[in-house]
Amino acid sequence: MFSLAIHGGAGAVTRETIPTSEDPLFRKGLRNALDAGTAILSTGGSALDAVEAAVRTLENDPLFNAGRGAVYTKKGVHEMDASIMDGSNLKAGAVAGVRNIKNPVSLARKVMEESGHVLLSGKGANEFALKVKAEMEPDDYFYTKFRYDQWLRVRHTDFYHLDHIVSEDPDRKFGTVGAVAMDAHGHLAAATSTGGMLNKQYGRIGDSPIIGAGNYANDATCAISCTGHGEYFIRYAASFDVHCLMEYKGLSLEEAVRTVIFDKLKVAGAEGGMIAVDAKGNISLQFNALGMHRGFRHSDGREYVALYNNE
Ligand code: ASP
Repeated sequence: MFSLAIHGGAGAVTRETIPTSEDPLFRKGLRNALDAGTAILSTGGSALDAVEAAVRTLENDPLFNAGRGAVYTKKGVHEMDASIMDGSNLKAGAVAGVRNIKNPVSLARKVMEESGHVLLSGKGANEFALKVKAEMEPDDYFYTKFRYDQWLRVRHTDFYHLDHIVSEDPDRKFGTVGAVAMDAHGHLAAATSTGGMLNKQYGRIGDSPIIGAGNYANDATCAISCTGHGEYFIRYAASFDVHCLMEYKGLSLEEAVRTVIFDKLKVAGAEGGMIAVDAKGNISLQFNALGMHRGFRHSDGREYVALYNNE
């Protein structure tokens, strides 16, 4: 048995804000990521390999705010954050503020496996990338016209935001990406990758590379990947909180995710969502925003892909 869930960001994702022509492209992007993860899980591969493969697929798709489609910082560059965690041994790796890395999630995995550390940032992370021969790309690779235009409109302001919850900018609703999986051996893993927030200040790091905030996996309970206003997800230790509610209070996956997304984050004024799987293969996809790019696949044949509130 296996299960896999993915997300491509939560926010003002509605039929009004997503151009009709782009709706099928988003769904296709999500299905491609599910295919990449399922190819590994259905042949007995590990949850860790599956979440990395699914996130790499989303990083390579310019529609999503991660890897190739990352948003611009205030200085007009791309600084990306990513993390990965293996629930079978609680090993984790993450990178923050990296530039020109084609697949930040794979660099995060190298950090986990080869650096002896958990989180590398900025120039040090880029130096490490050279050492492990991570795939690099020139600035041009990360150029997308719509993201550039989006940045031109706000670069002289102090305005920063999740690129996909900008109600006054209804044409673009793209977000952070993530994947969580349970494999045939009952192991869990989680991976998350992002360009962060549009027009973010130099050096700003969100929740995506912070273990226990935007990403967490533990075979004893669950694997979680988050999207939303990162500052809140860090302050509320959002993904670790789901784990704690399950471990200490005995809540089900669905109840624990609901508690964090609605009773805690929404009450605090934080918009976002999370995807989760537990060690029994249950899946939960919940958000307190208008929509969330999301999908899952289960070995029992169930498959689901949705963008808006209920479709
Ligand atoms: N959580 C991400 C951050 O704050 C943004 C997102 O989910 O789109 O960096």
